[in-house]
Amino acid sequence: MTTDPHIVIVGAGHAGGCAAAALRTAGFKGPVTLIGSERYLPYERPPLSKELLAGAIPHEKTFLRPAAFYEDAQIALRLGETVAAIDRQAQRLELEAGGNLAYDALLLTTGARARRLPLPGGDGPRVFYLRDIDDSLALRERLQEGTRLAVIGAGFIGLEVAATARKRGVEVTVLELAPLPLARVAAPEIGAFVAALHRRKGVDLQTGIKVTAIEDLGDGLRISAEGSEPILADYAAIGIGAQPNTELAQAAGIETRDGILVDAQGRSSDPGIFAAGDVTRHLNPLFGRQIRLEAWQNAQNQAIAVAKIMAGGQDPFSEVPWFWTDQYEVNLQMAGAPERWDQVVWRGEPTEPGFTLFQLLEGKPVAAVTVNNARDMRFARMLIQRAQVVDASALADKAIKLQDLAR
Ligand SMILES: Cc1cc2nc3c(=O)[nH]c(=O)nc-3n(C[C@H](O)[C@H](O)[C@H](O)COP(=O)(O)OP(=O)(O)OC[C@H]3O[C@@H](n4cnc5c(N)ncnc54)[C@H](O)[C@@H]3O)c2cc1C
Repeated sequence: MTTDPHIVIVGAGHAGGCAAAALRTAGFKGPVTLIGSERYLPYERPPLSKELLAGAIPHEKTFLRPAAFYEDAQIALRLGETVAAIDRQAQRLELEAGGNLAYDALLLTTGARARRLPLPGGDGPRVFYLRDIDDSLALRERLQEGTRLAVIGAGFIGLEVAATARKRGVEVTVLELAPLPLARVAAPEIGAFVAALHRRKGVDLQTGIKVTAIEDLGDGLRISAEGSEPILADYAAIGIGAQPNTELAQAAGIETRDGILVDAQGRSSDPGIFAAGDVTRHLNPLFGRQIRLEAWQNAQNQAIAVAKIMAGGQDPFSEVPWFWTDQYEVNLQMAGAPERWDQVVWRGEPTEPGFTLFQLLEGKPVAAVTVNNARDMRFARMLIQRAQVVDASALADKAIKLQDLAR
């Protein structure tokens, strides 16, 4: 009989799948159960707005690992099952379909869901959200040449949908409340670059537009907005952000604040319960503050770090946040999570095929964006991590190697 604890992971998405595998890699021999609402094997979401939406890959290509992996690793995979409640006292999960599941240690990787448009018509049959494989496949079917698509929200997902739709010959209008795309996450210079890119590709990008209602006319949609004439479209895709799935933790009395609050080792306010991925607001030791990220790197690497802790390790999760997006022929990568900056430094020009933009605060790099210039990213992250004053003119000078500045 084993004396190892039973680790249960709730949420079989990217973080959950990575954590389960990492427990075995870290040498954990006890029982592991990975339970998740979706019926698909744990998968990566980035292709959902890119290759899968474009029809370039089958959905199975998004899977982290084949089914046989979980069998071989003796990870009990329970798909299509939703956890309804956590009984912390009894160390037991209650399942939505009835029955329960005992745990000794618990990892919550419940992720996030697409924020709904809180407006009349925001949930009709011609209105699409994008979070899971089924959402992507359903929207894909509608993206036929000549179809009119209104994308509401010019964040990463909205813009990726717009780019994929344009490639399929769809007529695309993007409606954004802020004056520029990516206003929540990127410097205005990058927002302006991305706006110009989409307009060049034929997107009707309208900013400063407040959508007030979506009316289903039977054969299409009429979208009313302040600051614009009504927009007619066949379908709408909504990309107005994500909301962490914290309800399970919250109902169990675990501390949450737009995310499950965890320390750098992934421990929640209940030391026996851990969390990782999009659902966490975690302490980042490099910045000395709590951040919530919605990014592939965080889902994977935080989950692996927390799994190692649960298997007896000590090392906290401590990385410079990193994110990428692909739109048309542009690969854009971002590092850092700055709350503010007081200077931007261009390394290259936005008119060049590739360039990098640094954001500095009091002379120290706090964020960087590379556009078709991924080779700068590693050194940009080193510079952000080092948090030392750099010579801005040297940073802008492409004759000076970034690795020499990062050393
Ligand atoms: C369309 C799209 C494109 C993206 N593109 C990029 C990109 O280009 N670059 C990048 O860096 N990041 C990208 N991301 C972000 C990245 O995919 C996410 O950060 C990552 O998926 C988060 O992983 P997670 O495991 O924390 O959450 P999720 O992947 O959301 O997994 C959580 C899982 O938990 C399940 N669950 C929730 N509650 C329960 C419950 N009570 N019981 C059982 N199961 C439950 C959910 O059904 C879900 O399957 C993209 C995301 C989306 C949606």
